[in-house]
Amino acid sequence: MKIDVLPIPDPKPRIEDESQLVFGKQFTDRMFLMEYTTGQGWHSARIQPYGPFSMDPAAMVLHYAQEIFEGLKAFRRDDGSVALFRPADNVARFNRSARRMCMPEVDEAFFLDAIRQLVALEADWVPRSPGTSLYIRPTMIATEPMLGVRPADQYSCYVILSPVGAYYKGGLAPVKIWISDHYVRAAHGGTGEVKTGGNYAASLYAAREAAGQGYDQVLWLDAKNRQHVEEVGSMNMCFIYDGRLVTSPLHGTILDGITRRSILSLAQQMGLEVEERALAVDEIFAGIESGRLTEAFGTGTAVVVSPVGQFTYQGKTALLGDGKTTGEITRKLYDTLTGIQYGRLPDTQGWVVEI
Ligand SMILES: *Cc1c(COP(=O)(O)O)cnc(C)c1O
Repeated sequence: MKIDVLPIPDPKPRIEDESQLVFGKQFTDRMFLMEYTTGQGWHSARIQPYGPFSMDPAAMVLHYAQEIFEGLKAFRRDDGSVALFRPADNVARFNRSARRMCMPEVDEAFFLDAIRQLVALEADWVPRSPGTSLYIRPTMIATEPMLGVRPADQYSCYVILSPVGAYYKGGLAPVKIWISDHYVRAAHGGTGEVKTGGNYAASLYAAREAAGQGYDQVLWLDAKNRQHVEEVGSMNMCFIYDGRLVTSPLHGTILDGITRRSILSLAQQMGLEVEERALAVDEIFAGIESGRLTEAFGTGTAVVVSPVGQFTYQGKTALLGDGKTTGEITRKLYDTLTGIQYGRLPDTQGWVVEI
């Protein structure tokens, strides 16, 4: 399928001061868009000016949330070039999400090329200051106007780009985590491993409650026993426990994070043993008290690595160290992964794709 590239009328004004960039608030001049109709397949692929599109008020996504998305980044490297990080993994996960939500799959090579073409056209939008990047958001929605509950016959798939500032302005900063003993995110057999908007809609209530009490993120426990760690907000969780890296296994209730995957392989290269098992909430508190649990961090594309300084559960609080200092292993993993992404360290695993 050919991608039509349409002219843009007037380039948008840029935010010159990159420290003013807010995550996900400003978008570039162009977007990629294609449509699907049952019987015809994907068609009308184009790169067109960024902007609103019209949709029928009965579009099925608006009623039954048949929607999936992805999140990846393009990085400006020290030599000025632009590169993507493991984009094929995102496209493969997009299709896994599509299957679970009864949505049409995309041709992975074609879609990867569409993302590359779009980023190449918008390369000037990739910010230049340390820690900044261009966030890429592939999305698919059910557009068929129809109020019956069944998989739609029409879809739109689009990609938008958002220049984002450095997440950590004053260096890595540990966050405060509230462990939910009441609300749950995903149960076995549900859609926990799917990148779909509905999972997020269902998480807002607990997140607001946590924020109201001064916490940055909610840590979800397993839905059945509310005992074992699942994940945090839009991050997978890792713990340094008995000197090993411990992280929850992929059993269908948590997202198979590409940052998680990358961190596990970097940890192994650093000589750390990796254990994929769900830590019990009691082990977190006992482990911090006994000194067996020394570090904890979340992993995700937006933050890369987010150190945890404090856990609170049922009114009980435990601090990691003084609650304000990033652990040594956490910092090393962050430095190594961002080093590869920004081209300061060699990419020995073929993770980086130059535009
Ligand atoms: C996207 C996401 C992650 C992180 O995945 P990455 O591929 O590392 O960005 C973790 N948890 C949830 C719920 C997510 O949606």
